[in-house]
Amino acid sequence: METKRLVDKDPTLKKDDLILITGAGGFIAGNLARYFRGKGFTRIRAVDKKPLYEWYLRVPGVESLCLDVSNEDNCHRVCEGAVEVYNLAADMGGMGFIERYRVECLRSILINTHMIEAAYRGGARRYFFASSACAYNVLLQQDPNVRALKESDAYPAMAERGYGWEKLMSEMFCQEYSAERGLKTAIARFHNVYGPHGTWDGGREKAPAAMCRKVIEAIDTGNHDITIWGDGHQTRSFMYIEDCVKGIDLIMHCDALIATPINLGSNELVSINDLLSKVEKIAGVKLNRHYDPNAPRGVTGRNSDNTFIRQVLKWEPNTPLETGLRATYKWIKEQYDARKKGKRVVE
Ligand code: NAD
Repeated sequence: METKRLVDKDPTLKKDDLILITGAGGFIAGNLARYFRGKGFTRIRAVDKKPLYEWYLRVPGVESLCLDVSNEDNCHRVCEGAVEVYNLAADMGGMGFIERYRVECLRSILINTHMIEAAYRGGARRYFFASSACAYNVLLQQDPNVRALKESDAYPAMAERGYGWEKLMSEMFCQEYSAERGLKTAIARFHNVYGPHGTWDGGREKAPAAMCRKVIEAIDTGNHDITIWGDGHQTRSFMYIEDCVKGIDLIMHCDALIATPINLGSNELVSINDLLSKVEKIAGVKLNRHYDPNAPRGVTGRNSDNTFIRQVLKWEPNTPLETGLRATYKWIKEQYDARKKGKRVVE
C-alpha cells in the first residue's frame, strides 16, 4: 500500500534543482534542454538511448547520458535526486513510422510505466508526460474540414492504433499517480511539432520537414517532380518548436492543470497541398505534383481546439506557420548542403 505524498505548496524551483529530461537526443526534448539551460538552470540531466553522436542537440553544461529508459533499473538511476522529470522518450516518427511499427509504438508503454514509478519513488515534485493528438478518437477526424479537437474528445476512446493507445494509457498512469499517490503530473497532447534540430530524412520525419527536404532535393537535382502522400487535401495544424517548449514549461508549472490532459498545438489549419505551396514560396520554385494514394496518410483532418489552454494559461502557440517554416527550411538546407559536402550530419 502506497502512502499518498502531500506536497501541497511547492517551493519555487531553484536554478540548481535537478531537472531530468528523457528523449533528449531527440527533437523536442533536446530543444527543451536548451530552453531550460537558456533560463539559467545549472543542473539538467538529459537522457536518451541513442549514442551521443546521434543526438540532434548537445547542450553545453547539460549532463548527457546514453541509457535506455524502458529498463526499470535505468529509470531509478536517472531519477535519483531529480526535482522535476520531463518524460519525452518514445519510439516515434511521422505517419510512415507509426502506421508501420505499431508494436514499437506500443512498447513505449514500458518507458512511462517505469519512469513515473521511479520519479515517484525518487521523490520528484512534478512529472511531465508528452502525449499526442493521436490519443483522440479517430472517428472524429474523417473530414478535411474537421471540427477542432477539444480535450473531452479523447473519450469514448478510439485512439490511433498502436501509438495513440499507448499515449492514452500512459495519460491514465499520470492521472492515477496523482489521484492515489499525490504526484503532481502534467499531460500535454502535442499536435504536430516542427522546427530546426528535428528528423528531416530517413523515414521518421514529419510532413513539414519532409516537404522542405523534397523541395531542396528537387532544386538540387533539377528533377522538379514531387510526390505527395495521399490526395493532398488532408488537413493538419503544425506547432513551432519554440511554442512547444514554452508551452511545456507553462503547463508543468500550472497547478490548475495537474493530471489534466491539455492540447498543446497550433490552430492554424492547412492542407498538405497548402503546406507545400508555402514551402515552394520560401524556396522560390514551383514543382510538378504527383499523388500517391497508397502512401500512409493518417486521419483526414486534425486541428487543435485551443479554448481550454487560452482560458487557463492566457496563452496559446502563436508562431505563424510561414515564420516557422522559413526557419525550418533554412536549417534543413544547411544540413542538406553539409551532408553533400561529406560532413557528418544528424538526420
Ligand atoms: P524524437 O523521435 O525526435 O525523440 C524521441 C527520443 O526518444 C529519440 O531520440 C529516441 O532515441 C528516444 N527514445 C526512444 N526510446 C527510448 C528509450 N527506451 N530510452 C531512452 N530514450 C528513448 O521525437 P520528438 O518529436 O522529439 O517527440 C518527443 C515526444 O513528444 C514523444 O513522446 C512523442 O511521442 C511526443 N509527440 C511528438 C509530436 C511531434 O510532432 N514531434 C507530436 C505528438 C507527440
